[in-house]
Amino acid sequence: MFLTISTTGSAQRPATDLGHLLHKHPEKAQAFSTSYGTAHVLYPEADAERCTAALLLEVDAVALVRRGKGKGRGGAPDAALAQYVNDRPYAASSLLAVALGSVFSSAMRGVCTARPELPGTPRPLRIEVPALPARGGADLVRRLFEPLGWTVTAEPVPLDTEFPEWGDSRYIRLTLLAAGLTLAEALRHLYVLLPVLDDAKHYWVSPDEVDKLLRVGDGWLAAHPERELITRRYLSHRWSLTRQANERLELVRLAEADDSEVEDLDNAVAPEAEADDEEKPTPLAVRRREAILGVLRASGAARVLDLGCGQGQLVQALLKDPAFTEIVGVDVSMRALTIASRRLKLDRMGERQASRVTLLQGSLAYTDKRLKGYDAAVLSEVIEHLDLPRLPALEYAVFGSARPRTVCVTTPNVEYNVRWESLPAGHARHGDHRFEWTREEFRGWARAVAERHGYAVEFLPVGPDDPEVGPPTQMAVFRLGTPKEAKAA
Ligand code: SAH
Repeated sequence: MFLTISTTGSAQRPATDLGHLLHKHPEKAQAFSTSYGTAHVLYPEADAERCTAALLLEVDAVALVRRGKGKGRGGAPDAALAQYVNDRPYAASSLLAVALGSVFSSAMRGVCTARPELPGTPRPLRIEVPALPARGGADLVRRLFEPLGWTVTAEPVPLDTEFPEWGDSRYIRLTLLAAGLTLAEALRHLYVLLPVLDDAKHYWVSPDEVDKLLRVGDGWLAAHPERELITRRYLSHRWSLTRQANERLELVRLAEADDSEVEDLDNAVAPEAEADDEEKPTPLAVRRREAILGVLRASGAARVLDLGCGQGQLVQALLKDPAFTEIVGVDVSMRALTIASRRLKLDRMGERQASRVTLLQGSLAYTDKRLKGYDAAVLSEVIEHLDLPRLPALEYAVFGSARPRTVCVTTPNVEYNVRWESLPAGHARHGDHRFEWTREEFRGWARAVAERHGYAVEFLPVGPDDPEVGPPTQMAVFRLGTPKEAKAA
């Protein structure tokens, strides 16, 4: 197993800085023993213009089998011979990643005590892996590396050059080029993605692998378009670990995203309202909160859930009305909750006030016992932030499991978008909206939900109700009724 890392340089920025970065001197060939064999680091070339470090792992196939995890490939895993005769010694794989992580651990963490300015600076990098087992082929290799800033050359290795008609092996000759990455970033990409491509981890995946993945994936994994596949394969298809990793990464992604959660257009005023009169028109977000408060008061609710509470504006409004004795804000984004708690000045609140409010971090796509038994729940501008296939999960968590007596749901009315002058045709109101519905689509969904869970539903406009396209915000109010009432509605 073999890979090389090369860089170029000049007299001012010599390529041999690679030796500092890797903490391995270019003039010495060094050997490190690992649990699966010996890792060698050597430099085939090292001058100011070009420097290449090679990592070569000599796998001890017997040690691998003795450790009990040496799997035979492609066939009977328990065939005695397959344990010894496999591609482990030749192909880059999770073993090489482990060697990379242990031999270059400081470099991977971006630490260089002698030259602290080096690790943070990107430099030209070229990485070659002559035989990379790649389940998913060259196409997947590109999908994994290109979004990270690599230029990828992935050539299938023929089974036998003498007999081209035999076709390609499952190996790829991989070359990666980048100018904008640091060495630490490069090593972290390889550390995760080599075993992902191999998809046959040699060691038992324990729960702390999730922590490790989040650490090594810091800064690039959360927003990676192939995140699901990467986590699934990295965690050896262990479903509960994969789910845990994805939930945590989703929080990271949301925090990284430009989460100006209060939509820009929310603070704008619906065009028609502007003409109303002299008075300063009311922003849509304010009108929506007033409409929601109206519904909640009319329902006689005292204990209220604000699901997807964002930065806590509604929670703050609810706190001002003593009729609401218990207010729980729930959001998946830790960052939104931190802002909410600052807005509410939770730390400086008197004990009585503080006892009325709770902020919980959680995802509405999963049932949650903490949310059972409330009078009312609000989902204000939340459903459109979920991918459509996740909506049934939210439906079940709210209407099937938490089951508050009243549920108030608001969402944009896409028909109204033509009335926003600043919104280019066909654009959603907010970058994170996964969908925006017409009145008919929203009503269709809401009626079906009510029917499935024994609620009655009615619809109210929020903002000016345009005769042609309807209001900017549409609202559905669900009431838990006896089945008969629900039918009558
Ligand atoms: N209710 C607020 C915020 C709306 S923005 C308002 O009306 O202004 C949508 C909010 O839903 C965001 O804060 C986002 O973090 C949250 N959200 C998105 N998906 C979620 C999920 N699966 N579980 C919980 N909250 C979610």
